[in-house]
Amino acid sequence: MSAPSSQPEFARLSPRQQMGVNCALCDDRLGVGGLVLAKVHWRGMPFTLWACLKHTEEER
Ligand SMILES: [Zn+2]
Repeated sequence: MSAPSSQPEFARLSPRQQMGVNCALCDDRLGVGGLVLAKVHWRGMPFTLWACLKHTEEER
């Protein structure tokens, strides 16, 4: 298993997270923008995991 630990386990995500409605990291509803966190295949279907924009900027 070489999956990075930072990537959420797809099967454990909520349907909304799997569908890209909510952020895959914090489960907030995605607004107007988001970033592609990962592209995964699950049961032969391609899915894109999305993260909200607040994860792009490091907190300081
Ligand atoms: Zn988020």
